[in-house]
Amino acid sequence: MEFSITESQKLIQQTVRDFAAKHIRPKMMEWDEAQIFPVELFKKMGETGLMGILIPVEYGGAGLGYFEYVTAIVEVSRVCGSIGLSMAAHNSLCTGHILQFGNEMQKKKWIPKLASGEWIGAWGLTEANTGSDSLRMRCVAKKDGKDWIINGTKNWITHGISGDVCVVLVRTGELLDSRGITAIVVEKGTPGFKAGKKENKLGMRASETAEIIFEDCRIPEENILGEVGEGFIQAMKVLDGGRISIAALGLGIAKGALDASIKYSKERHQFGQPISNFQGIAFKLADMSTEIEAAELLTMQAADLKNRGEPVTKQSAFAKYYASEVAVRAGTEAVQIFGGYGYTKDFPAEKYYRDSKLCTIGEGTSEIQKLVIAREILK
Ligand SMILES: Cc1cc2nc3c(=O)[nH]c(=O)nc-3n(C[C@H](O)[C@H](O)[C@H](O)COP(=O)(O)OP(=O)(O)OC[C@H]3O[C@@H](n4cnc5c(N)ncnc54)[C@H](O)[C@@H]3O)c2cc1C
Repeated sequence: MEFSITESQKLIQQTVRDFAAKHIRPKMMEWDEAQIFPVELFKKMGETGLMGILIPVEYGGAGLGYFEYVTAIVEVSRVCGSIGLSMAAHNSLCTGHILQFGNEMQKKKWIPKLASGEWIGAWGLTEANTGSDSLRMRCVAKKDGKDWIINGTKNWITHGISGDVCVVLVRTGELLDSRGITAIVVEKGTPGFKAGKKENKLGMRASETAEIIFEDCRIPEENILGEVGEGFIQAMKVLDGGRISIAALGLGIAKGALDASIKYSKERHQFGQPISNFQGIAFKLADMSTEIEAAELLTMQAADLKNRGEPVTKQSAFAKYYASEVAVRAGTEAVQIFGGYGYTKDFPAEKYYRDSKLCTIGEGTSEIQKLVIAREILK
């Protein structure tokens, strides 16, 4: 594995840093307070190339790899976790699923619009009663001639309201049968497909999370990705890649929390000196920094395997689990270092603290990552 940062990574890092400073930082607290999902920002991110990093050039992307993709998510999330989460869900889940399992016609139809940011993508696996235990899903699709009719509800769907296209996992076979789930693409505006309740969240408030509802929603069979009954296996593979992006999200949040903490600890004086002079504070910074380096190595290791097309289940679970927990610890320590100011919305620490917690939940909780890791090492 190559540890030095490549030229394309450096370029992406600087481009995204400048973009985030100009277009995200000035507005992010307004979006966070009002739970506004900034659709226009997404179009701009698309124009800048941030929705097509992993997409081959023939479908309108940059044709780059996971090092560049991780770098971009880290830099966005260093400023705002919400935008990092939405970027990860759009790219890894929706676009990633179509790219990995769609046929040529499907890729040509949807990927260029997703890669350019013209369309926003969503991905629906979770339901109200089935999160970790997704094989028990109740949302069904039944065959009717050449079409499929979907009925049911999906919950916690990122871009459930604003998404133009959604890859939805539905039951087409028996309950608990891993060959009984199918992936279908549903476009916004299809009769019988609508958004439901928008969640009012602790953190990641500018990333839209909503229910989506299917009532006799008729979808042509050409919208099925891969074969009928392959959806669960596809979803697990999509999540293997998606977890690298959540690791990057956690890493970015942790780096942002550390940046803010270093700056503040040098500026804030108590007992006649900067608080960074106190070993109690300096050691917190040292711990945060060490853990961030370790999380980065795990994330880049998973990215490296993904670039090579090798199995990544264990390494993406390592990276997701560790980087998420590091993000939560960094967010917590940042609030502590900021003291009372850390508890207010005038300073950045509280947002890192709130946003970080999602990383240990979305795309498989920390407990589920440990199950995945244990299963892999006990094989
Ligand atoms: C902001 C946000 C965005 C999201 N975006 C999407 C999206 O775009 N698409 C989508 O499909 N889903 C999305 N989700 C859903 C997310 O993936 C689920 O919330 C997550 O998988 C956990 O499921 P759950 O919430 O039902 O928790 P549960 O599965 O009910 O888990 C509750 C607790 O039990 C623990 N637990 C469960 N099973 C086990 C076990 N076997 N062993 C040990 N502990 C266990 C869990 O770790 C957790 O601590 C999103 C969620 C959030 C909060």
